Amino acid sequence: VEDLLQPQATVEEQGKQEQSLRPHTFADYIGQKDLKEVLSIAIQAAKARGETLDHLLLYGPPGLGKTTMALILAGEMGVDCKITSAPALERPRDIMGLLVSLKPGDILFIDEIHRLSRMAEEILYPAMEDYRLDITIGKGASAKTRSITLPKYTLVGATTRAGALSSPLRDRFGSVQRLRFYEPAELCQIVLRTAELLQTPISDDGALELAKRSRGTPRIANRLLKRVRDYAEVKAAGTITQNVAATALELYQVDPCGLDWTDRKMLSVTIEQFNGGPVGIETLAAATGEDIQTIEEVYEPYLMQIGYLQRTPRGRVATVAAYKHLGLKPPNEQLS
Ligand code: ATP
Repeated sequence: VEDLLQPQATVEEQGKQEQSLRPHTFADYIGQKDLKEVLSIAIQAAKARGETLDHLLLYGPPGLGKTTMALILAGEMGVDCKITSAPALERPRDIMGLLVSLKPGDILFIDEIHRLSRMAEEILYPAMEDYRLDITIGKGASAKTRSITLPKYTLVGATTRAGALSSPLRDRFGSVQRLRFYEPAELCQIVLRTAELLQTPISDDGALELAKRSRGTPRIANRLLKRVRDYAEVKAAGTITQNVAATALELYQVDPCGLDWTDRKMLSVTIEQFNGGPVGIETLAAATGEDIQTIEEVYEPYLMQIGYLQRTPRGRVATVAAYKHLGLKPPNEQLS
């Protein structure tokens, strides 16, 4: 069964059509109000001084718009943005090649930056701090180091976990900013905007129904919209109403608040085998077959955001809302 609720981009979503759905300006970028404000001040200040932006680290769960934000920053600054991701920078010459190709002011976007190799990181330190690239020629005793001066540029790093970065790397970012899950009302606006771009008729309550099932994540909202559009065209009159959206998403097994099998399993294990918790992350990982990192970065943040799971020093605890969502009776002491 295909997993409609995975926040990572599918191959198709890395293609052209998805790019055309990206907002291109701050005005089009819905939500993340605080982030937008901080960044637009930084842009205005940098522009007024004729300088480049400070290196920026964006962190938060996948699919919330980090790449989109880097492209918007480049647009607002009137510079180019080169996009890459840490796993593509395995050999030293990969990152060197990118750095020497930058023009003054350009943005270099590195996704999954916590996965950089040690060697790539060490190349980045002087390149971030002093805009200097150190190249070693030859080997052993006869090796020589030459330095190349790079133009001033802005590195934008993206990661799902700021804590996974080495501290020397993190310390070299002038600004560290977090992206948050989107509220249903914001996702609703995103769905309406995308529907307009796709020329799909949709009602406001249809959009809200999609928004509520999208795990606070624009990428998932856009994906559900495309799927429901198919359903509406084949099975209904073409317009996505609330009823059409709810019926279609039920068919595709998307739960009313966007929980998938793993979320539900985490909650049911916590409730049924551990009396509501606390339960350790290792146990939840073993019960669901997911790795600890995915639980921590993808599942747990959303369950906490919607108030179904709490983190305590002794482990994870299911809330009364979680019992209710699974149709279970909460224990008496939690009712008060
Ligand atoms: P990853 O970390 O997995 O690379 P990301 O955080 O970089 O993901 P993007 O690729 O920027 O996510 O965004 C995913 C999609 O969601 C984009 O194609 C865009 O259409 C849409 N999107 C993201 N943020 C917004 C927003 N604020 N307003 C409208 N659409 C958005």
